[in-house]
Amino acid sequence: MKYHITTYGCQMNKSDSERIAAVLEKNGFKPAKSEKQADLVVVNACSVRQSAVDRIYGKVRAFAKLKIKNAKLKIILTGCVLGEDREKLKNQFDYILNIDDWKKISNFKFQIPNKSKIQNSKIQNTRYEMPDTNYFHIKPRYTEKFRAYVPIMTGCNNFCSYCAVPYVRGREASRDVGDVLAEVKKLAKNGCLEIILLGQNVNAYQPADVENFSKKNLYKHPFAALLWEINQIPSLERVHFTAPHPADMSDEVIDALTLPKMVNYLHLPVQAGDDEVLKRMNRNYTARDFLNLVEKIRKKKPDIVLGTDIIVGFPGETKKQFENTLKLYKKVGFDIAYLAMYSPRAGTAAAKFVDDVPRQEKKRRWNILQDLMKKITLKKNKKYVGKVVSVLVDEYKDGKCFGNSLEMKRVRFSGKKGMVGKIFEVKIKKAFEWILDGRISTQKKFFCKLQKNFFC
Ligand code: SF4
Repeated sequence: MKYHITTYGCQMNKSDSERIAAVLEKNGFKPAKSEKQADLVVVNACSVRQSAVDRIYGKVRAFAKLKIKNAKLKIILTGCVLGEDREKLKNQFDYILNIDDWKKISNFKFQIPNKSKIQNSKIQNTRYEMPDTNYFHIKPRYTEKFRAYVPIMTGCNNFCSYCAVPYVRGREASRDVGDVLAEVKKLAKNGCLEIILLGQNVNAYQPADVENFSKKNLYKHPFAALLWEINQIPSLERVHFTAPHPADMSDEVIDALTLPKMVNYLHLPVQAGDDEVLKRMNRNYTARDFLNLVEKIRKKKPDIVLGTDIIVGFPGETKKQFENTLKLYKKVGFDIAYLAMYSPRAGTAAAKFVDDVPRQEKKRRWNILQDLMKKITLKKNKKYVGKVVSVLVDEYKDGKCFGNSLEMKRVRFSGKKGMVGKIFEVKIKKAFEWILDGRISTQKKFFCKLQKNFFC
């Protein structure tokens, strides 16, 4: 029996898919290269944005064709799917599961079970308060050996007015420190170089077992303390996290950004640069608060690269208010922004607002921000020319190696397949908007010899 998982959404969903794969393999399934070759297809979906929901509906049509060719094919929908979407989709899938249901599946021999065995009871528009974090105990089938996503918490208590996460993931629930550290230490022992800590509101991490933090730990804030602990693990090279809420960036968390293994990049979602809009979004900070926070962060770590998320065309956003977002963008000088045009999600507070910015106007604002981002990013990238950056290679294609620098810049250079999963010092020769072209620096060649690494 073969399975195939299609994953939509954020890194948290990707990480969940690694656990789903582990459950299926434990129960005798083998990975299939494509949905066409599978007996079981899992769609780990996200209905946090309308575009993501549209993709699920697009899939449904493709599955109908697949089922004509393979009548035995079973299809499961799982992940962050809102109750309303579940209700609409329930007849299109054989099973609809919550993420924490997968832990239960790991406890018995997984055959395509009777619908009664895995109940669809949660198909109703249920908002469960506290997710069952036991599914974190499933040992994932990591996609990469050299880099791993490690979820440390799930859910969110912030209730930003546009966001479906608190409804699909429930309230914040954190993994135990002991549990997280055991996973990270094991990963490091097996050669993992980079850890990405995940959580919908990652810096609101509140574990129950704080006694497991070492006595020598510099910090009291649990998230800062966790970063400190992970920074002590000898063979790890890089640590980062996503996504923090600006209001939870305490002084200690900011200080922890300077720990030696932290990457030189912070993703800090701002969403808008206008106080009125931020208030309607229920973000709990003003544009000034955000700018002050950026100043504080840059004081601690002057060359840190900042990324963000922005929604354009939020209900009631005037042209003037959008211009305030542009102003904030320029003041901060983000290196990258993930831009979204607002679309209402059922059940959220903003869904009750009048979605009064026409689609064409949303697109216009999106284009303006996109152009601004490209301009700023290119200018910033040009400053890397002549500099040496440290690159963890994660891809090889046609004689070229690709990887991220500590600043999360995509870097390309000539290399060999065997370089994937290793870190190289690369001198940047040319800068583009989304990629930096470079050459392995002589300095690193010497280092590589010392490491008996003959690929450089
Ligand atoms: Fe959603 Fe993030 Fe706001 Fe939580 S903090 S409600 S995950 S946007």
